[in-house]
Amino acid sequence: MSRTLLLALAFTVACPMAAEEPVDPIQLTVADASFVADDQWAVGTEVGVLDVSVSEGAELQLTVPDGVPFAIDEAGRLVVDGPLDVTQARNHRFDVEVTAGDLQAVADVRVRVTTTTLQPSQSPALGDKTALWIRTSFDGVEGEQTEQDIADAMTSLNKYLREQSADQVRVVRWEVTPHIEVGVTRDEAPRDAFAIRTLVAQAAIDADPAYDPADYNYLFLSLPGGVDLGGAGALGTGDGNVGTAWIPAPLWVPGTVHEAFHVLGVGHCDVLMGDETYPAPPGSGGHDPFFFMGSEGSEAKEPTKGLQYDIFAAINVPMKYHMGWLREANLRDVRRAGTHRIWSSRTEQPPGLTPYALRLHVGSDTLWVSYEPTVFNSEITATGLLVHTHDDGWTRLLDHRPASVPDDPKIRQALNEVAEFSDAAIPVGETMTVGTEWTITLEAEGEEDGRYWADVRIDVP
Ligand SMILES: [Zn+2]
Repeated sequence: MSRTLLLALAFTVACPMAAEEPVDPIQLTVADASFVADDQWAVGTEVGVLDVSVSEGAELQLTVPDGVPFAIDEAGRLVVDGPLDVTQARNHRFDVEVTAGDLQAVADVRVRVTTTTLQPSQSPALGDKTALWIRTSFDGVEGEQTEQDIADAMTSLNKYLREQSADQVRVVRWEVTPHIEVGVTRDEAPRDAFAIRTLVAQAAIDADPAYDPADYNYLFLSLPGGVDLGGAGALGTGDGNVGTAWIPAPLWVPGTVHEAFHVLGVGHCDVLMGDETYPAPPGSGGHDPFFFMGSEGSEAKEPTKGLQYDIFAAINVPMKYHMGWLREANLRDVRRAGTHRIWSSRTEQPPGLTPYALRLHVGSDTLWVSYEPTVFNSEITATGLLVHTHDDGWTRLLDHRPASVPDDPKIRQALNEVAEFSDAAIPVGETMTVGTEWTITLEAEGEEDGRYWADVRIDVP
């Protein structure tokens, strides 16, 4: 709440002629404001707060004109009050009238509505969500996940979601069932994750109709070790609004967070198989060491209390866009030479209109250039610009130094592709060539009020 009370300054100037205590006149000021809203926001979502100052004790009244899809309360809090249809209006400009006693003030308020554009298969992972954790028993063999394990995992997941989505999505409620007997042994269970889900869901509904997965956004299946999910250790799938994660025992929190991101609709962050056009080690493949959806290298996270984890790695910009956490307004499409300033998306600030990535249209390909200034993992040896491809939720990282192999015999022996991409970033002063002749240069980088920026030079043939 930004209403500030202007407290009268008590001047105690010695003045023998002053016969009366001075009476402060009521003061009222209100500032003009510009806000950004998204067309996916529900009625009641806060757009912003007007900066209104009034003397103590005065009653404030604020009104918006008829016909605008917003409402305002006496604290100056502007909220969505109707559909934000960008085909009707993308920019709203109106006066907010403020009265306090006999005084009146007017604020010129502008709201720009941005659009969340998602793949057809993806729903925005925005707002309040619910989850159901079904704990299972296979012919008396119970999954070992305790209610405390699950609470710790959800605490860690929500903390990470809050940081990565700028508080745009959270799991506000999760139910945990007792162990529900599914009626088959682990060996008799189908070796198919979806058939296991059907079996478990029916057993849960039979046990208690309140455990119907259809009543929740996300379903987590807590399974005993040894249940064969068709060869996978753990699985997750979903479209942002609805999805399932299969979590075997013992519950590993970073892995659970990783599967939760599949539930939110994103695929893996991989590294690009090299070819003659894009830099990458030939024959390589593997995981992007900067972003692997919560299960980056061991140093990218730290157990705090019990099973709760702090995860230091971020979710990359194309994925944030894919889930609806960043929008078209946060991207700059580049088709010709020029210099652009982008900001690191590693921030909990609402995205607003801040540009977080360049989207380069290189022939028929699209490359995303984002800025990662942070070392959260000692395997990462360069920070700067990262270049990704993005295809329906899957991202792949290009390597600025495709020929480098880490000077570590263990890594050489294991052909650890993750480490080979530890120097994938373009550091300040360096240039990477992509496509045929496009070049990407990190000209300068810096920090302003705790936020990190990069000036990116693009040259094209
Ligand atoms: Zn995965």
